[in-house]
Amino acid sequence: MRTRAGWSASAAASSSATTSACTPAAEATNLRLPPDDQLPAFRAALLDWFDRGRRDLPWRATKDPYAIWVSEAMLQQTTVATVQSRWRAFIERFPTVRALADAPLDDVLAQWRGLGYYQRARNLHAAAQAVAKAGAFPRTADGWRALPGVGPYAAAAVASIAFDDPSAVVDANVKRVLARLAAREEPVEGTRAAKELAAAARRLLDGARPGDWNQAVMELGATVCSPRAPQCPRCPVAPWCKGLATGAPERFPAPSAKPAKDSRTDLAVAVRRGDRVLILRRPAEARHFGGMWELPRAAVDPALHHAREAARVLREVAGLEARSIGDAILTIRHTVMNSRIELRVCAAEADGEPAAPGHDEFRWATAGEWLALPSSSTQHRVAKALAGEGG
Ligand code: SF4
Repeated sequence: MRTRAGWSASAAASSSATTSACTPAAEATNLRLPPDDQLPAFRAALLDWFDRGRRDLPWRATKDPYAIWVSEAMLQQTTVATVQSRWRAFIERFPTVRALADAPLDDVLAQWRGLGYYQRARNLHAAAQAVAKAGAFPRTADGWRALPGVGPYAAAAVASIAFDDPSAVVDANVKRVLARLAAREEPVEGTRAAKELAAAARRLLDGARPGDWNQAVMELGATVCSPRAPQCPRCPVAPWCKGLATGAPERFPAPSAKPAKDSRTDLAVAVRRGDRVLILRRPAEARHFGGMWELPRAAVDPALHHAREAARVLREVAGLEARSIGDAILTIRHTVMNSRIELRVCAAEADGEPAAPGHDEFRWATAGEWLALPSSSTQHRVAKALAGEGG
């Protein structure tokens, strides 16, 4: 029977789907999801769709837990399109977990440049060393959770895809799909929502093919059940979708109240000595860009006198007294977490050697030397501009 939501659930439930002996008993949840007797058909519909049209992504051609783990670490904050090329390069540079564990952290950070959220690279490196020391990969999500920086999402994804561990993944795509399937009105953020949606994901999980199931739900959210315009006529689970039955599935889940972005102006000072420039290394434990190299920089008040602010930055950050300060030679606007930042770069002359207590070390580097060191994408652009290679 054709309904506004597609084919009726009862018709779909009578399809040829069978329940896997490996699928655990359905867990009770408060959400209005398919009833127990329709779960086999529901799971079969989504897995059939995934089997027929899954995206051809390079990390899907392997069961190597290391390669899958690297892809999941990258995908957490970066788009699939970007990850595709960067994943290949990373695996070529560090082909095994041992190769990654033995590599200097600076090499790993340099290879990660442009992917952002560098803490992921540091965690990946530390976790690779733990795996290399243990001599084997964990085989369960709980085992993966014990590694540095591996959260519940990555743990469930890698364990289920590489080792068929029956752990359900819950990411933003999964949350949206579940909220729409159940016509769940509330925002999906917060502890209560996390518990509710995790229980729902566990209940729906296909225990016989947990890795494929997790990828199928995420793929549905990424390609069909998109945030603003879900393509319900193409959806394999439309017959069970309570959100679609309301006639306005895109209104689920309700948006969360987002904190407003703050704005600030940073000033970076390029102190030159011949063809070299002073760069400082941020502390390894810094919340952002730990272990990366940068010009002396700090937040300034753009309403105050430019040269005086630049002299202050140089004194407070690098312990140098400026002899002269030039105008801004470069301005870069970028966003870090919840902050919009306008970075202004100016040249300066100063005598003496720096004392930078807020940094791990300093160096007088040519632009070429700096470009080979780990630095953020923004600082990399500054280095290229100083090298005369463009901004
Ligand atoms: Fe429901 Fe449409 Fe999303 Fe499918 S695409 S889960 S029918 S809202």
